Amino acid sequence: MSDPKIRLLFTRAQLIAMKRCADCGWHPPTQGHHPDCPTKEPEPAPVGSTVQPRP
Ligand SMILES: [Zn+2]
Repeated sequence: MSDPKIRLLFTRAQLIAMKRCADCGWHPPTQGHHPDCPTKEPEPAPVGSTVQPRP
């Protein structure tokens, strides 16, 4: 059951060009991410920061 229920209507290149998530096809600034999207990051993490803050 590892089949993600995500259907992309465009290619990854097209999605990136439209500033959409290449994994789920949603528009993060307005829609966020698909519930099953493997990339649920609102924005890319800054380079050089390997230590993540703990709550
Ligand atoms: Zn996504």
